[in-house]
Amino acid sequence: MFSGTFLSDLFPISALLISILSLGNGYNFSCVIEPSDPQDANSTQRNIYPGNLWPNGVVTYRLHDSIRENCDHDIEKAYLAMQEISSKTCIKFKAWEAGDKNFVDLMVDHKECGLAHVCMIGGRQWVKFGGKCRTLETMVHELMHTLCFRHEHWRPDRNKYLNFMGCHQEPEILEENKKYPLGIYDYGSQVHYKCIPCHGGSPTMPGVTKCGSQVTSGLSIIDADKINALYNCQGCNRHRWRLIKHPNEDVPNMYSFGHKNNVGYISPCRALINGEISVGFYYSTNKTCSFSFGDAAVYEFTHNFEVLTFPGGISQPGATYKWVDREEVESAKIIKAALPAGREGEIGNSQTMYIAYVSVDKYQSIGKVAVRNGELQKAVFVFEREVYHAPTRYYVLTCE
Ligand SMILES: [Zn+2]
Repeated sequence: MFSGTFLSDLFPISALLISILSLGNGYNFSCVIEPSDPQDANSTQRNIYPGNLWPNGVVTYRLHDSIRENCDHDIEKAYLAMQEISSKTCIKFKAWEAGDKNFVDLMVDHKECGLAHVCMIGGRQWVKFGGKCRTLETMVHELMHTLCFRHEHWRPDRNKYLNFMGCHQEPEILEENKKYPLGIYDYGSQVHYKCIPCHGGSPTMPGVTKCGSQVTSGLSIIDADKINALYNCQGCNRHRWRLIKHPNEDVPNMYSFGHKNNVGYISPCRALINGEISVGFYYSTNKTCSFSFGDAAVYEFTHNFEVLTFPGGISQPGATYKWVDREEVESAKIIKAALPAGREGEIGNSQTMYIAYVSVDKYQSIGKVAVRNGELQKAVFVFEREVYHAPTRYYVLTCE
């Protein structure tokens, strides 16, 4: 069930409840751990990992009477949140039926901003949202707790990325879970609080001013990748981004998509720069990840980047990863099947980046391409430390 994953802040301690209390205008997140709900009694012992993931990625939900009142379209928000998760991962949400033992009650509780049990605890558990926090963002955040995720800004290395100096109380820091090595830091995760001093923290990386729900109302690219890894999703969700510090176990799952100077192979990679996730090529000979950022500058990372791996190979019945020629296939079809890999752009208006490939003479390179108004844009690559734009003559990595 558990292949190699790189989950950052996953700690399956289901006896804990994560609470987001409303502060001030009711929309500033603050989180405390509440005492266990009585129904959690003795749950510590029986929730030894991995028993608390939802079997086969199926989450049974029930609409509690409080949400059925459907004030301000609460039900629609809950459905949208479930759809956001199920459309980007292999997680499925199934409506409760008589006899279903383990399920999550979706509730409105105006005493809370958001509150959820972490992981599947066995029996009834719940996700609550209330007041002004009855939003898509809150529901996605809480459902990620249901799926076993904890806060990104609690991960053990967060002090490299956030500053809580002068705060009355710093958020907790989780211990490193050796089973789930950390991937690159994700300011855009939906389980990252907003970057407000002393709540989600003050970002230490230049260029970052927004985090979590300030970046997206749904899952970040990396949130979706982490869910797919934790639940060992297959088919077109079986690719895994892996931090390069574990090269030995990952190299067999990497795939050569060409050569640089006819020496060594190249493969997709991505790295965190100015709070964004940039995509480029990993070069096996000098073990670097090269990419452009801001359309002109070229970066070469020697550590703290991820490479794309394909456990089980790139081709399986009904789910094959392949490059599609931008000039041969219509944009809409390519975009539908393309692998989201990163995000770049104006702060608060960043765009999903897909993986692009170009071959010119004896050179090949891997870069990125954005979509604007439903159309693929120019792809951006690095060749010999120069940035190169390909208007149409490039390929996009897809899975169908
Ligand atoms: Zn939370």
